[in-house]
Order: sequence, then C-alpha cells, then structure tokens
Amino acid sequence: MIGFIAITRDITEKKLAELALRGSEMRYRTLFYDSPDGYLIVKNGIFIECNKAAELILGGNRSMILGKKPEEISPETQPNGQKSEELIRNAVIETFQKGKTSFEWVHNRFDGTPILIQVNLTCIEYEGDNQVILNTWRDTTAQRKTEEQVRKLSRAVEQSPVSIVITNLDGNIEYANPNTFRTTGYTPDELIGKNPRVLKSGKTSPDEYTNLWHNITEGKQWKGTFHNVKKNGELYWEQSTISPIFNERGKITHFLAIKEDITERKRIEQEIIDLNQNLEEKIMIRTAELERSNTALEKARMEAENANLAKSDFLSRMSHELRTPMNSILGFAQLLEMGELSATQKKAVNHILRSGKHLLDLINEVLDISRIEAGRVSISVEPVEINSIFREISDTLGPAAAAAGITIQILPATTDPLYVSADCQRLKQILLNLVNNAIKYNQPGGWVTLKQEVLPQTEKGIVPVRISVSDCGKGIAAEDLPKIFTPFERVGAEKTVIEGTGLGLAVVKQLTTLMGGEQGVESEIGKGSNFWIELPKTIKELDRVQQNGDLQNGQHIEMEKKGCILYIEDNVSNVELVEQIITANRPGISLITNTFGKQAVHLAKQHQPSLILLDLNLPDMHGSEVLEQLKQDDETAGIPVVVISADAMPNQLTAMLKAGAKNYLTKPFDISEFINMLDTYFK
Ligand code: ADP
Repeated sequence: MIGFIAITRDITEKKLAELALRGSEMRYRTLFYDSPDGYLIVKNGIFIECNKAAELILGGNRSMILGKKPEEISPETQPNGQKSEELIRNAVIETFQKGKTSFEWVHNRFDGTPILIQVNLTCIEYEGDNQVILNTWRDTTAQRKTEEQVRKLSRAVEQSPVSIVITNLDGNIEYANPNTFRTTGYTPDELIGKNPRVLKSGKTSPDEYTNLWHNITEGKQWKGTFHNVKKNGELYWEQSTISPIFNERGKITHFLAIKEDITERKRIEQEIIDLNQNLEEKIMIRTAELERSNTALEKARMEAENANLAKSDFLSRMSHELRTPMNSILGFAQLLEMGELSATQKKAVNHILRSGKHLLDLINEVLDISRIEAGRVSISVEPVEINSIFREISDTLGPAAAAAGITIQILPATTDPLYVSADCQRLKQILLNLVNNAIKYNQPGGWVTLKQEVLPQTEKGIVPVRISVSDCGKGIAAEDLPKIFTPFERVGAEKTVIEGTGLGLAVVKQLTTLMGGEQGVESEIGKGSNFWIELPKTIKELDRVQQNGDLQNGQHIEMEKKGCILYIEDNVSNVELVEQIITANRPGISLITNTFGKQAVHLAKQHQPSLILLDLNLPDMHGSEVLEQLKQDDETAGIPVVVISADAMPNQLTAMLKAGAKNYLTKPFDISEFINMLDTYFK
C-alpha cells in the first residue's frame, strides 16, 4: 500500500433538501424555503415540491407547479433547436449516472414569457427513495442582459476610433483601448501601469496639468488639447476630455480620458491661418497699390478739373471783355444805319448789324455757360409763381411771335397760383430760351403753348411741377434728341437761315441742374416738340407766414409810424409779402415797388423814401450795381439801403455791407426781425 485516495463531493444542497424535506430540522427548512435560488424536487418526472423562489421565477403558486412535468413548462424546443422533452430525458439519465448535471434552460413562465435559467440537477435520496432529483434554479435573464450590454459596450470601446483610457486615482493607466495603442505605437505592456504623461511632447505647460488634476480630483470634467509624441518620435495633437468615474457611494474610483487625434484638424486650421495671413498680406499690398493709383487718379482728376475751370474762367473773362467793343460796334452801326446811305452801304451796314447781333448772342451765351461751369453763377432759390413768369414771357416774346404769325397760349387758362422753388431770373431765362426756340423753329400760323402741371410725389417726398413749352413746329428727329442739350449742337439748323448759336439748350440744362431740377424733350418730325423742366413745388412765402400765424407775430400795430419805402424786387410773391407785413403791422408806412434796377435812382430821387429795400437778382442788373448807382448820386447816397436776397453766401453778404448796405436779410426772413429792422429807420 502506497497511500489513500480520498474522493470528496460537495453535498450541501443535497443535504439541505433532504433535511428540509424530511422536515426534521427547522433551520434547514427555512433555508430551503427562503433561499433566493429556486428549489424544485422531481420524482418520477413530476414536480413534487418547490420553494418560494421557484414560485417567483415561474410567476405562479405551488399548486400550479406541483404535479407538472418540467417539459410542460418549457417551450417545445430549446435555443439549440433540440426538443425539450428529449433533452430532459437525457439530463435525467445523466444525473442518475453522474449524480449531478448542470445546463442552461429556457422555461416558460405562467404568463408565457420565456426565461433563461441556470439549472443544476442533483440526485438525492428522498424518503427512502433515491430516484429523486433536486432542481436548483437561478434566473439568469437579467444577468444575461447585463452581460450582453457589457459585451456591446466593450466591443464599442475596443473598436472606437477615439482613444479611451482609464486610470487609477494615482493617474496610472489601468485600461487603454486598441486605438490608444494604434495611435501611440506603444504596446499594452509599455503603457499599462504608466502615467499618460509619458506621451507628452513637453509643449504642454505644468500649469495646465495642475489645473487638469485640480479639476478632475474635485469631481469636475476637464477639456483641453495636448501635444503628444508617439513611440516613433512623431508629434501629434490630441483633444482630451477627462472625467472622474464615481462608484455607487459617490466616491471617485478612476478617471476616464477620451482622446481624439486632431493633428489633421490642426494642420488644416494652420493652413487656413497661413492662407488668411497670406491673403491679408496680399490685400494690404493691393490696397497700397490701389491707394497709389487712386492718388495718381485723384491728382489727374484735380488737374483736369483745374484745367476745365481755367478754361471756363478764361472764356468767361474773354466773353466779358468782348462784350464792351461789341456794344460800340453795334451802337455805331445803328447810328450809321440811321444816316444817309447808298444801297450798297445800307446792305453792308445790315450785314455788320446782323453779324454783330449774332456775335453778341454768342458772346452772351458763352459767357453764361462758362460762368456756370466756373461756378461763378450764384443761384438764389425762393418760391416763384409760375403764372406771373408765363405772363412776363408772353408779354416779352408776344410781338416777335405775332410778327411770325404765331400765337402764344397759357394753359390751363385759370388755375390756382402754383409756386416752385426756383431762381426767378434763371427760370425766366430758361423759359425765354425755350419759347424763343418754339417760335424760331415753328411755322406761320402755328402756336406755342406754355403749360404747368403738378406731378405725383416722388420717392424722395418731392412734388415736382412740370413746366412745358410745346409747339407745332418742324420737330426733331429721334436720333438727334440725345444731342440736343449739348453745347454748339444745332442738329442741322446750322444749314438753315434760322439764326442761332447752339448754346441755348445747353444753358437751359445747366441752369435747371443748378436749381436742382430736371429737363427733357419729346418730339417727332413734322408734329412739333415739347420741351419741359421739372422743379419742386412749394408754397408762397405769404401763405407760409399766414399758416404759421407769423404775419403779425405779436407785434403792436403802430399807426403813428409814417413814411415811405422803395422796394426794388422782381418776384411778385416777395413784393406781396412785404406789402402784407407792412399793412398788418405798420399801416402808416407806404410802399413803392419796382421790378427794374435801372429805375431805382430815379424813383429814390422822386419819392425820397426813408428806406430802400433791394433785391440782388434783378432782371436788368445785379443789385450790387444798383447800390453803387445809389451811392454815387448825392441825392440818394444818404438813403439807407437794406438788401433782401435769397443768396445767403457769406462773401455776397460782406461785399454788400462793404459797398454801403445797412443790413442784409436772407429770404425767407423772420418777420419780427424785419419789423424791428423797419422800426430802426422809422422813429
Ligand atoms: P440754337 O441757337 O441753334 O437754337 P439751341 O441750343 O437753343 O440752339 O437748340 C439746339 C438745336 O435744337 C437747334 O439748333 C434746333 O436744331 C433744335 N431745336 C431747339 N428747339 C427746337 C424746337 N422747338 N423745335 C425744333 N427744333 C428745335
């Protein structure tokens, strides 16, 4: 004999069941019935006993379980495809042979749901019968579910394209997923147990680590970028999110780092930055180039503008100088014409007169255009009544029209007075030009119509008034219309006997533009033409003053102030206003008015007014000339002159005061200021 063989077997369960069933010991009985595992005893293929856990697992009470066969509470086949009944038979045989078997089994609960059970079969002796089997059941459905989830989770982590690292509380790596090794080039042996800092390139500052450690040990998440180095020395950028992992008691047990390789993203970002910088540099260079060429352009533009100004200035001076000798040429030619002349001499003088007249027109118009271009024309815009201008034009040109067999008509015949913002003299000049043309290019028995018409309000809030001059003359060819307002463009008229300079319409255009208006033409050969200008509608000064209740303006009416005022003004609405103010406030003062500057000295001598009010923009001469004449004559030099003008240019104001005007009121003037001014001259 060389020794003993001892074969031992754990028979706790067997013992338990036997004792419990025998009911001999209370202690074991409790253990059997209250065990968390299901216990069932099978004799002759039928359940003869079960505990509470078995009832719970199957979802029925013992009366439903006892007497049943295991295959009765099983699906027909098990997941491996074999018949349950057959498998049970085999298991029983095996149990009797080996004393014990275990396997996984699908049972049907009483409500029909399948459950996965870990079954242990043990052969026991029961009441003297050793053909009895004890079934120990453990419901593994939940466990299987958890296992399945864990499997899924670990597959996800293993296959994840980002690196996932779990470290212990010291920061040493406990787990790293395959991507970590793929990215870094290290093997698990080389990384597990190490601190991830072994990967850092050294570019990350120690402060950053302190901050990181501080955050995660306090239970917070930390996000940031690391510059790392691979095993082969290659550098890469990593975006990390590190968060603590808590256990069920809320204690931190590990740290989880999720890291993404962002080297490519960084590279693209850098490329964009470089590109931007490059672009900015290029833009700067280009801007500098453009600035240089702009300066050159600006210089060239200034030079061209100066040259143009110099040209206009030259023309303006030249024309002015030419006018004086022209006047004497024409004057003496007229004298000659009156004398005794032979037929040939008469013809010659007529030639001089006609050519001289043409030359004078030309000079005057060139003077006008060049003055406008050189910015020497001052415009004084005020409310102007159109009808009065129409009447004036009709009176002036009526005789010439009649001589040519043409009638001038004003439409509509009766209308409420319409006012436009315009320079009274310039508006007259424009209409004179247009009506003159309408007569010149007309036919005997023809007509010329002057018309005013209010147009709908524009987007800018302006209500334009269209003033048109139409005729039934020869008309203008469509292809000539675009050239018509160009200087010296006579579009064929130069070949006719109709005299002209080709400058009239250019002056019309320049003046209209200067007043902020627009001009245009519609015409058809043989049917006549319609020339028009548009100017903003306005209300007359007197209406404005009356609307504001300013006419009396709280002034006392003083009857005792007596005397006379001479007012030289061509704009009827201004005359009307001054008349009304005086009647309303100083009824004792009388007003004498006149349109022409050349009458001023004569009227002043005749009436010896206490005050002369003088407009600057007069039809025959400028107000400054009138003032000069008044100052030169001893009889009128002492009469105070007050200028009332829409021209608010400071140099005009100073020039007039210097020339001897006592005061300068700009239109529209303040009524109380006007009355106060009057009172200083009427004591
Ligand atoms: P002009 O001194 O030649 O009249 P304008 O500048 O006034 O110069 O006019 C330019 C040209 O436009 C004229 O020469 C003429 O051919 C044409 N024109 C102007 N007004 C009319 C009109 N009412 N009917 C026909 N043609 C006209």
